[in-house]
Amino acid sequence: MTQQTNNHTGKLIVFSAPSGSGKTTIVRHLLGLDALNLEFSISATSREKRGDEIDAKDYYFLSAQAFKNKIKADEFLEWEEVYRDNFYGTLKTEVERIWAQGKHVIFDIDVSGGLRIKRKFPKETLAVFVKPPSIDELKIRLKKRKTETDDKINMRIAKASAELATAPLFDVIIENDNLEKALVEAESLVSNFLKP
Ligand code: ADP
Ligand code: 5GP
Repeated sequence: MTQQTNNHTGKLIVFSAPSGSGKTTIVRHLLGLDALNLEFSISATSREKRGDEIDAKDYYFLSAQAFKNKIKADEFLEWEEVYRDNFYGTLKTEVERIWAQGKHVIFDIDVSGGLRIKRKFPKETLAVFVKPPSIDELKIRLKKRKTETDDKINMRIAKASAELATAPLFDVIIENDNLEKALVEAESLVSNFLKP
């Protein structure tokens, strides 16, 4: 796999953080800025589709067996088993699809996936860690978001300390206390990184 496709030097922009930190909000904002020329990396997963999620838009939904077959065939850039038979990963073809359009890839993935992409493509990747003001604030944000049950919120919070400890391994940390400031900082970091 090479980043040189049709004379386009594709880059990879990773946003990782504990759940509730604000990475999706920041990534959505950046995707709305046409000048950055970004396209969202759609992950594959074997988890069940939720509510109004759409295949090939939110995720590529695969059976656990189909996912395992793709692992065997070395089709993933990175993948992870979160719970038993609950797989998530980035397909190599997804990155190739985006680079072939002359665009840069932006990822909204967990910290271990983000760091694996950085390790595979050290020069081409900007790995950003989004840091919440505190774990208490994460809990408040997840409750307000109302997308998870209390059990799921507690599971996400339980993982947050270990995830926060990985922040120094990223290229840069954005503090997301004031959202407006975080958006401006993210915009400037990404646009500087993408400058030829
Ligand atoms: P993640 O993708 O990291 O799980 P989200 O982007 O979904 O996080 O943000 C979690 C919730 O917190 C959302 O409801 C979002 O609107 C809200 N949020 C994001 N940034 C801030 C902020 N700086 N202050 C308060 N609420 C925020
Ligand atoms: P959810 O099930 O809530 O959509 O996502 C659960 C977790 O999987 C989140 O922390 C999300 O960041 C992570 N995730 C989503 N896509 C990928 C991926 O492609 N690779 C990895 N490693 N994690 C992912």
